[in-house]
Amino acid sequence: MVERNENLLYFLDNKPYINMTNACTNACVFCLRNQKDDVQGANLWLDKDNISAIDVINQIELKKDIIAKADEIVFCGYGEPLIKINEVVEISKYLKENYPNIKIRINTNGHANAIHKRNVALELAPYIDFISISLNGENEEVYNKVSNPKIENAYEEVKRFIRACVEEKIKTVTTVVSNVPNYPVNVERCEVVAKSLGAKFRAREFIENGY
Ligand code: SF4
Repeated sequence: MVERNENLLYFLDNKPYINMTNACTNACVFCLRNQKDDVQGANLWLDKDNISAIDVINQIELKKDIIAKADEIVFCGYGEPLIKINEVVEISKYLKENYPNIKIRINTNGHANAIHKRNVALELAPYIDFISISLNGENEEVYNKVSNPKIENAYEEVKRFIRACVEEKIKTVTTVVSNVPNYPVNVERCEVVAKSLGAKFRAREFIENGY
């Protein structure tokens, strides 16, 4: 079996993260990918966008001592993880079978149902403990300015996906990045939107060069 050299698994303050794709259906003004190539020294650009579940599982196995002690693992990276929904489900199933104590979180732009044209929350619910969905704005106008989405009706799609995750009883947090230069987001109004969808809400400050 050929081992991949890319960082499909990386660590941030000792917490493991999975980096499966560089594809994304947004182009957010605050995206870290525009500012730097690495997270704490791990270059997250991939040679090819053809990562399989087994590629990731192989890297997890190489670090199994650390994974066994971790409280949580996060699908995140330099791209939108749920573009690779089948691989996310396969890896999550493997994690729950082999590391039953680990919690699994996904950080996502919330476009997955629109991309795959089905309710993927149903597929995620058996394995995923937490999902963090970028709300990015209090209305469609702000959302589009901040996120530059490449799909139609993106803001409505994100809200529908938040509702779908809440309905499947995945612990759902919606997030906004505040203080993005030139794009004032109304954090209080975002919180009202999040609560109306049944989700929790978290605002985090924009930090130049991230992490
Ligand atoms: S959704 Fe995430 S990966 Fe995609 S552009 Fe926005 S910040 Fe970057």
